[in-house]
Amino acid sequence: MPLPFSGNPLFSSDDLRQDEIELKKLKCRKDALFLPYFKYDPATTESGDFFWIPWSTVQSVASNPDGAIFLGLTEDGSPRFAIDIGDSLEYWNHFTSSGFQGFRSVAAHLADARTAIAAQARSILKWIADHLFCSRCGFSNSVSFGGYRLECTNSTCGALSFPRIDPVVIIMITSRDNRKCLLGRGHNYPEKIISPLAGFMEPGESIEDAIQREVREEVGLPCADIRFWGNQPWPFPSSLMLGCFATAVTDQIQLNHAELAFADWFTRTELEQIFNQSEGDRIFPEAISISYHMMRAWMEG
Ligand SMILES: [Zn+2]
Repeated sequence: MPLPFSGNPLFSSDDLRQDEIELKKLKCRKDALFLPYFKYDPATTESGDFFWIPWSTVQSVASNPDGAIFLGLTEDGSPRFAIDIGDSLEYWNHFTSSGFQGFRSVAAHLADARTAIAAQARSILKWIADHLFCSRCGFSNSVSFGGYRLECTNSTCGALSFPRIDPVVIIMITSRDNRKCLLGRGHNYPEKIISPLAGFMEPGESIEDAIQREVREEVGLPCADIRFWGNQPWPFPSSLMLGCFATAVTDQIQLNHAELAFADWFTRTELEQIFNQSEGDRIFPEAISISYHMMRAWMEG
């Protein structure tokens, strides 16, 4: 089973994205569907699935229909797009009683490859909205390549920008005898949640370098035997979670209180108790996260 937000079934390519005429034709096709977003949350049906609309409706409900981004083609060749409908729901509410639901709760409910399509859309729409101006000269940017490229409109500059991804290492540290794992909680995490240590990678680092730095910074431990476990796109707003296991060289934690609110070792039995109880001092992270799946993978051996 792919992790939530991964396993995107749509196909796209740069050949297609850079063909403006073809993209316009695709938008108007009868089988073309658009996923509307309002403040980066997707439109949903009453049953909690994504609520797709045709081009004719996009023109009625979106403040800028031309801002639709191309997501790709389905297996049978139907085009899929996403559209940010703008800052007002006035036209939307005339058209439908369907609403917009927080993306995390939609993803938790669906938890399959549909979430990957919506994650791709959310990350790109947010990237475009956050990069209205050229970072080199300050002129406005225009959108091209179906949403995957921004071009500075200043002809003497012409800088191009491409969507960025922020890699994050998620580190499941185990003791040398593999009987305990190290879990913690950052200050910005909800109370009670325990999860593997995590941190943004920095320029010039390999995944292993980033893991060694983060673990030393947060709990003062050297670690060894780093193994890649899996990865997951994380559309809040645009990260790539790189899940790895590592073995601690010693058990002695030196908690860095500036970095973490809490960290400690947990046995499999302790994790099982936490997993099986609905109320308690500690809880697992949300089930859509790779952290949750790494903890379960270790717990279940
Ligand atoms: Zn520029």
